[in-house]
Amino acid sequence: MASLPRLMPTVIFSRGTVLTRDAIVEQLVATGDWGERDARISARANFKCEYCDLDLLGSVRAYKEWNKDHIVPRSAGGSDSEDNIALACRICNFSLKNRWNPEPRCKPGASREELIAAVRNYIRGKTTAILKQVQGFREIAFRDSTESKQGSSTFRPFGPPPDAAKATRLKHSVICR
Ligand SMILES: [Zn+2]
Repeated sequence: MASLPRLMPTVIFSRGTVLTRDAIVEQLVATGDWGERDARISARANFKCEYCDLDLLGSVRAYKEWNKDHIVPRSAGGSDSEDNIALACRICNFSLKNRWNPEPRCKPGASREELIAAVRNYIRGKTTAILKQVQGFREIAFRDSTESKQGSSTFRPFGPPPDAAKATRLKHSVICR
């Protein structure tokens, strides 16, 4: 196995106490919930998605987004070394970066920081394009609320109409009692 990069003893604040990164890793491993490698990778990233800065300890939803990404995909020759792993949210990892290829964007031998900067740019561009699309959908979906109240066959992409939702809830409450 390739030698692991030595963590710099960076100081991070935790509950008002000053801890070195090594001490944070040690305490996380001591909880029994963390492997040492995962703790090191996460502490290096300050527990944030390295592509979009989502605080992965900020909420249960964010915590459930926790992923590790091969910065240079294995399909493009990327290794399993810690240097090639970034802490990432699931959305960045699977939805936004899935087609990213370093070749046209980075010089051979680019540093980890340069590669991450290139991924961040790529994700920013994709996010901007999707946002534009979503805004278009919002304009269609919420153009005129009075009009949608009158229509009986209103399109509801996110669930059944209120009556059906109520019926489903009643059914579930019987089943789950
Ligand atoms: Zn992210």
